[in-house]
Amino acid sequence: MITGILLKGYGGFYYVYAEGRVWECSLRGRFRIQDQEFLPGDHVQILPETGIKATIEKVNKRRNSLVRPTIANVDQAFLVFALVSPRPDLNLLDRLLIQVSEVGVKPVIILNKVDQAEEQEEDARTENSVAGLEFYQNLGYDFLKVSTRTGQGIAEVREHLKDQVTVLAGPSGVGKSSLVNALEPSLEIKTGEISRKLKRGRHTTRHVELMVCGEGLLADTPGFSALYLPKMKREELAGFFPEFVDVRGNCRFTSCLHHKEPDCAIKAAVDSGQIEKSRYEHYCLFLEEVITAERRY
Ligand code: ZN
Repeated sequence: MITGILLKGYGGFYYVYAEGRVWECSLRGRFRIQDQEFLPGDHVQILPETGIKATIEKVNKRRNSLVRPTIANVDQAFLVFALVSPRPDLNLLDRLLIQVSEVGVKPVIILNKVDQAEEQEEDARTENSVAGLEFYQNLGYDFLKVSTRTGQGIAEVREHLKDQVTVLAGPSGVGKSSLVNALEPSLEIKTGEISRKLKRGRHTTRHVELMVCGEGLLADTPGFSALYLPKMKREELAGFFPEFVDVRGNCRFTSCLHHKEPDCAIKAAVDSGQIEKSRYEHYCLFLEEVITAERRY
């Protein structure tokens, strides 16, 4: 028996990736009743028969499962942004970092179109330059600079894909489709196709699947939403900001929300430049949202 990962169910068969190839599997009779409960990303044990045929004998317990897209055992999320056109929306980035971390998925920040920095000297002098974003690296996040046009950084992204189940997230126009094509040219995704799929997904149920991309697996539908923060208590929010965690012990009040309280070590760290101003501003915006949402529960 070998262990593999379910890519999709289609036409009564289940396609499982194991030992570097895709197997066309049928289910043991006792599983048929649970048909609907299988998710792409499920770890399954299969018994090879002839050729690429096999049967699924066992499904392992899930480590996590995402709702959007509906995929199990997701390892990481590529948060894809562009250096220019569109400029990086750091509010969205900070929001996605919280959503991804909350479900136990590792975020990897990917900044595309870095080759266009010199063409946009105006931008290079502002906070939207690459240098203005590299502080995310100091917060412990993986931060990759790529250009799907020149191929810069693509090998490094491919390394991150290896043996992982990955979901893409990020605004439209940043080059998610181009990134997928650069990583796995055989997939030939048309520019814009990924974002169109996302839009369609809002209105109709569609089948999500995992694609073999490089030496890893990638969801064909982007995930996470810009609209909501996960449900949490107001005092939990600071825990999603890694740079706050070591500092907050020095606040005067142990219940400090780092907002209007006096003698707040977080605010002092913002003033001294130890904590990025944009991160603190987003913290304050998110805090208001969390408090507003709390009242509705
Ligand atoms: Zn404080």
